[in-house]
Amino acid sequence: MAISAIVGINWGDEGKGRMVDLLTDDYDVVVRYQGGGNAGHTVINEHGKFALHLLPSGVFRKGVVNILGNGVALDAENLWNEIQGVVDQGVPITPENLKISDRCSLLLPWHRELDGLEEARLKDKKYGSTRQGIAPFYSDKYQKKTVLAGELFYPEQLRAHIEDLLEWKNLTITRVYGAEPTKIDDLMAWLADFGEKIKPFICDTGAFLRKADKEGKSILFEAQLGALRDLDFGIVPYTTSSNAIAAYAPVGSGLTGAKIENVVGVVKAYSTCVGEGPFTCEMFGPEAEKLREAGGEYGAKTGRPRRVGPVDIVATRYGVECQAATAIALTKLDVLSYMDKIPVCSHYLLNGKQIDEFPFPAALPLAEPVIEYLDGWGTDVSKARKWEDLPENAQKYVLYIEEQIGCPIKYVSVGPERDSIIIR
Ligand code: GDP
Repeated sequence: MAISAIVGINWGDEGKGRMVDLLTDDYDVVVRYQGGGNAGHTVINEHGKFALHLLPSGVFRKGVVNILGNGVALDAENLWNEIQGVVDQGVPITPENLKISDRCSLLLPWHRELDGLEEARLKDKKYGSTRQGIAPFYSDKYQKKTVLAGELFYPEQLRAHIEDLLEWKNLTITRVYGAEPTKIDDLMAWLADFGEKIKPFICDTGAFLRKADKEGKSILFEAQLGALRDLDFGIVPYTTSSNAIAAYAPVGSGLTGAKIENVVGVVKAYSTCVGEGPFTCEMFGPEAEKLREAGGEYGAKTGRPRRVGPVDIVATRYGVECQAATAIALTKLDVLSYMDKIPVCSHYLLNGKQIDEFPFPAALPLAEPVIEYLDGWGTDVSKARKWEDLPENAQKYVLYIEEQIGCPIKYVSVGPERDSIIIR
């Protein structure tokens, strides 16, 4: 059966959660393989409206097993609070439908603290961290100085391990940042509380996935953020600290031989970007304000107003290549209905030359957008359910993007609800 991935093509917030929620019906297992609770998926379905940060978006479907793979930054406190929120809205979360890899590293309170201390040190040079501890967490992971979730089952070794790490970590906290040292008792109390709460969900998810794959179960990988935020291929250093591309899913899940047949890349019908860094197609002033309002573009985790712009063909084409997308889901087409003329960023200008290749990060701040306009459709499209229901100019807009980015647009989303979708 199929192994698929749903990934972001741009800066994140493309509407991946909505697409996973739609498509999970066809899958037995949904797996998060990277990132942490630093971004959010918004999902609206028959249970209500949810902002998911760590939980895979398959939790709403009966019978779907949801996995947090070894590549995820596991913040037990945030995860537990998120589980409680979802359970309170009537959605059961049990060790049957949620499994956490014993090889997940634990994001500890000191990671969050260090994130804040570093952003404060950077002052106006900051990268726009969400202060969830993700960057300090992944740095520690690469230094082999993290605790694995499975260590919770070995309390004596765990305490000794934590003591060692704390001695090292407090050097940074006190000598580099001049802050108060973390106390072992506080840390152990935190672990005794939240570690115990998540313990029933922890198991060898790699083995589970390999077995599921052998049995012919269908598996869906769910990414956080988008290609332009990928640690290796994104807009360095304004990336996240993990690999958001589909190619990382086999590593971050433990299904190391996975061949991903379908990579559904999610693209928004216009562009948004949260945080700092070059955003070539950015719009400003009242035009930007109107689009931000129309699309409700405020961060799911932070509430920060998102930067907005027209669809960016150059960046999107690059994102499609990085993700090796086999199909595209174009979301939020309905948001553009108010525009008479729809702006698109068709090319970039770099050093006076028109270019179509996405520039190297150091050259990107020098790039300028080339804006062209397509005709608007002047009518609400949120009730469209078939391709033929879309006005001709809306079809033309979709076909223009499809041709420019060189990947078939299979899904067109015209609203946040599960059924507000056109499948071509
Ligand atoms: P994700 O992290 O990629 O899942 O992105 P977000 O959580 O930021 O999701 C995008 C937002 O847009 C959410 O509030 C969705 O409910 C909403 N949304 C998704 N698709 C559509 C759509 O086609 N039209 C409209 N109007 N809203 C949508």
